Amino acid sequence: MSPEIIRRRVVVLGATGSIGGCTMRVARALSEKIEIVGLSGRHNKNLLLELAQEFPSAHLCAGDETSSAWLSSQLGGRHVLQGDSGLLELASLPSSDVVLVAIVGTAGLKPSLRALECGKDLAVASKEILVMAGEEVMRVARHTGSRILPVDSEHNAIFQCLEGRDHSTVKRLILTCSGGPFRQATAADLRAVTPEQALRHPTWEMGRKISIDSATLFNKGLEMIEAKWLFGIPMEKIDVVIHPQSIIHSMVEFVDGSILAQLSSTDMALPVQFALTYPYRFEGPCEPLDLAALGRLDFEKPRSDLFPSLDLARRAGSVGGTLPAVLNAANEAAVDAFLAGKLSFPGIWESVARAMDEVPFVEHPTLEELIAADLAARAAVSYGD
Ligand code: NDP
Ligand code: MG
Repeated sequence: MSPEIIRRRVVVLGATGSIGGCTMRVARALSEKIEIVGLSGRHNKNLLLELAQEFPSAHLCAGDETSSAWLSSQLGGRHVLQGDSGLLELASLPSSDVVLVAIVGTAGLKPSLRALECGKDLAVASKEILVMAGEEVMRVARHTGSRILPVDSEHNAIFQCLEGRDHSTVKRLILTCSGGPFRQATAADLRAVTPEQALRHPTWEMGRKISIDSATLFNKGLEMIEAKWLFGIPMEKIDVVIHPQSIIHSMVEFVDGSILAQLSSTDMALPVQFALTYPYRFEGPCEPLDLAALGRLDFEKPRSDLFPSLDLARRAGSVGGTLPAVLNAANEAAVDAFLAGKLSFPGIWESVARAMDEVPFVEHPTLEELIAADLAARAAVSYGD
């Protein structure tokens, strides 16, 4: 197919979120090539209503029955799906080619598996589903021949650097990390961090959960495990380097010593567009880079003494089994508790470490055992409710 005539019919799970918003910008700019055929939201029904009006032929899914009835009444009786069953239906729409999953956390796992089982391509922003069940997601994709298209900026960068190259020539993947808002903090500073401070990311504007993950560096930990599954590269070949400007989105070092990098300004619309139009490129959605104005690019070693999250994630990714699911679920629960003022900032990684020690380990888990480990990890994060 020539680039001029591609037309991708896209379902967006999590359309009312930050990545959802970037996806809408891309769809508006490339309306000849990208058709929005499905949209889901949960609490933000007003935004879902606006999007429903903008994309009148899209199928819709709201968070619950009340929101779905309200939307339907605002839309002259248009059918609106709801809840988990609605997400599964949206993920398997016969009229779609690609499902973009941008639901925060692991709630997008079952719809993602459903989309793959139906032979759809899956554009993945929700890294948590790969951390929890990467082996299963990749297995189903291989089985049905569906493509997994990475949206996370680091993985999208690596995907671009690896395009057409032999993976056996990869020496290591180098994930870049801004270092978050507390890159230069002390351990005492971290004890006093408030949710408001932790939500203020220096280079990216994102949803609340990933902003906290970026501040604890769990985001990079989750991304190491995400990279392992997406690219089939073992954990010991995945490194992290602090790069405060967030201009290089990640790099691949090959066995001959060459390092390839992908650079751009910090706008998630670019990786979203690349994933949705792959393998073609079209005029871009974000500001061009002015390297001379930028002047310099800096790199540092991550401070794993201050942020144990990277070592915890490396251990989970290396050991495998249920451990990454436990790390991920304990982190989700601990982030919620921190945002609710019930847990200190270092309490997030302390809770994760405890859950990883306490929840019984299964080496070769089924999907049901992964879900059970996820629930046990959430229960293990106690903060005196
Ligand atoms: P947001 O919190 O901004 O948006 C999350 C979306 O998911 C919203 O549409 C929300 O609906 C919906 N949602 C939340 N929980 C549920 C649920 N249980 N069931 C159904 N829908 C739900 O998150 P982001 O867009 O920031 O992040 C989405 C994913 O993308 C995350 O996994 C994140 O790690 C990843 N990612 C994000 C990046 C970013 O720049 N934001 C960069 C790279 C990856 P509503 O708002 O209507 O309640
Ligand atoms: Mg990322």
